[in-house]
Amino acid sequence: MDPRPVRTRFAPSPTGRIHIGNARSALYPFLLARHTAGTFILRIEDTDQKRFSPTAEQELIDSLHWLGINYDEGPDVGGPCGPYRQTERRAIYHEYAWKLVELGHAFPCFCSPNRLEKVRKEQMKNKQNPRYDGTCRNLNLDEGRRRAASGEMYVIRFKMPKEGNITTTDLLRGPSTTENSALDDSVLLKSDGLPTYHLAAMVDDHLMEITHVIRGSEWLPSLPLHAHIIRAFGWEEPQFVHLSVFLKPSGKGKMSKREATEAIRDGHSIFVGDIKDLGYIPEGVLNWIVLMGWGVPEGDVLTLDDMIARFDIHNLTPSPAAINFAKLDHFNATHIRLLQTGDLAARIKPYFLREGLVVDDAKLLKIIPLIRERLVTLDDCLAFAAWFFRDNVEPKPADLVAKNLTAAQSAGVAHKAYEILAALPEITPGIAEPPMRLLVEQLGLGPNQVFGILRVAVTGQTVSPPLFESMEIVGKEKVLERTRTAIKILEKMG
Ligand code: GLU
Repeated sequence: MDPRPVRTRFAPSPTGRIHIGNARSALYPFLLARHTAGTFILRIEDTDQKRFSPTAEQELIDSLHWLGINYDEGPDVGGPCGPYRQTERRAIYHEYAWKLVELGHAFPCFCSPNRLEKVRKEQMKNKQNPRYDGTCRNLNLDEGRRRAASGEMYVIRFKMPKEGNITTTDLLRGPSTTENSALDDSVLLKSDGLPTYHLAAMVDDHLMEITHVIRGSEWLPSLPLHAHIIRAFGWEEPQFVHLSVFLKPSGKGKMSKREATEAIRDGHSIFVGDIKDLGYIPEGVLNWIVLMGWGVPEGDVLTLDDMIARFDIHNLTPSPAAINFAKLDHFNATHIRLLQTGDLAARIKPYFLREGLVVDDAKLLKIIPLIRERLVTLDDCLAFAAWFFRDNVEPKPADLVAKNLTAAQSAGVAHKAYEILAALPEITPGIAEPPMRLLVEQLGLGPNQVFGILRVAVTGQTVSPPLFESMEIVGKEKVLERTRTAIKILEKMG
């Protein structure tokens, strides 16, 4: 066991949109840090200038904030190990790359990209694995320094031992031994002066005193190289955990860009920003994500606090997880039901405002218990409850006609209902429902026929929250007015 206080990090490259894989790579180290009262760090790995996207960092930070994955150190909050953006740490990598050269574990390489490309093509033709051919491996150190100082283009490569092997350990998969002869003299420092991931991440994890590296399994093949670098420097090794891959919803094959696009067409998305816009709440999203690679029972409903309390890195699983959007819906609906009324009201209010509706807060609080159970995503509130905030409803005439009745008969039923309602002191479920049920009986009709007419009359739609509770919120005066309007419409049809 590493006796140092736990320090974990999320180290995304700001190259594109933030998807649930990124979110999970942030969540697990966050949970480990919180569970152990350790520190969680955000580090921006922006050394790949070709793939850099200027909007990605902000989207990343926004997504983390939205999910509630808060970091203790990072580019926008600072900390003792900064800067936390790798392009601002150039000088550090330069120094460490040359340090490795001095230690005899790396070498400057002056080979031209053209020549290397030719070598690569030749190797491919001969069915060999493409790799560096060793031209600069044994360059004299002083000559290397002099040529680099004179402005000649160079990279720095790791000097991989030709013999022997290296044993590395992934916490979930156990130890694994690799022959050094299978490893390349990988580039550590590029000709633009920026480091590759291999150097930058190892240097930063060391300087930032990271105890657990939790990252995507695409880095597992690089682990032997990383272990070589760390050992060459004589540094303490962090624990490595490589997370499982995500499979597409069918469970067959890795999630690709194409499937991601298809999901969006179906009203789903793997991108955190889209998921938020689709009306999902962070509690539901986190519950969904956390179970994709964590060996706790699949149906467990967990709040962030539960996750922190129960998190155990040894329970992460290396087996692939299929993306299942039905589960996201399930967890989202479940967590919506767990929200306090005021909290849910505050979260759905913007949806009404965006529709240009004027929202009465007291009324909204009364509506919440009527719709809470029906919401899968927050925007479902519009279908069920937007009509509450409209001055007038506009029922479709055909919807007012009850099943198996004519328009004239429906008008007659509505008229009888109107008389009963008008005579009541007020309309509440307790006061209005019993006489209305009696009416249903007296008319020898089904409740759906009678209540259906009233529902469409009062709410303007065929599906609504419970009728009498809705009527109470709408108020007697408006209920009567809308019923009169409905009778007129029905009479005209007849
Ligand atoms: N920048 C790397 C990536 O986005 C980070 C991997 C790591 O966590 O070390 O894949």
